Amino acid sequence: MRITTLLKKLLNVIQLLVTSVEFTDKGLVIDVRPRWRKPRCGKCGRRAPIYDHRPPRLWRHLSQGSTRQWLRYAPRRTQCKTCGVICEQVPWAHPGSMFTADFEEYCAYLAQTTDKTSVTRLLGIDWRTVGAIVHRVVSRKLDPQTDGRCPTGSPVAHPTDRSPPLPLRAPRPRSAGETGPSLQ
Ligand SMILES: [Zn+2]
Repeated sequence: MRITTLLKKLLNVIQLLVTSVEFTDKGLVIDVRPRWRKPRCGKCGRRAPIYDHRPPRLWRHLSQGSTRQWLRYAPRRTQCKTCGVICEQVPWAHPGSMFTADFEEYCAYLAQTTDKTSVTRLLGIDWRTVGAIVHRVVSRKLDPQTDGRCPTGSPVAHPTDRSPPLPLRAPRPRSAGETGPSLQ
């Protein structure tokens, strides 16, 4: 099995393609892209023409053992008829987040089930960031329509919306790869 195929299976994100991978001083950086060719508006999810290309950026993903994982992609901005110029939707993260949807879910789950110090140590992020993530996750679960639709448009589900409503779900088994203080 090719390494890119293996990583795609490990990431387990529908509509995501892995193009390459490299080890860097930050950890394992996986180059990905949406499976769809034509970009989708990051606000309403509709297909829209490309406005421009942004530089490559990283999304923090769940660690693999003691190795941090990052997804890298150069997002395009779309010229949406309804929303204007908006960064495109990506299938592994919610709009505006620096973390993958799986990372946010896991973080929110930990915040619900363990103490503050443990969460920050396990994930290697500060408490304020944990709070922001929890706020986003809970907001999405309370009102899934706020993420992935235009105020005046019809609802379009974001591809990462695959979790049930509250309560927060336990992480998938592979998330158990998150380990302790060595991640800091
Ligand atoms: Zn739009």
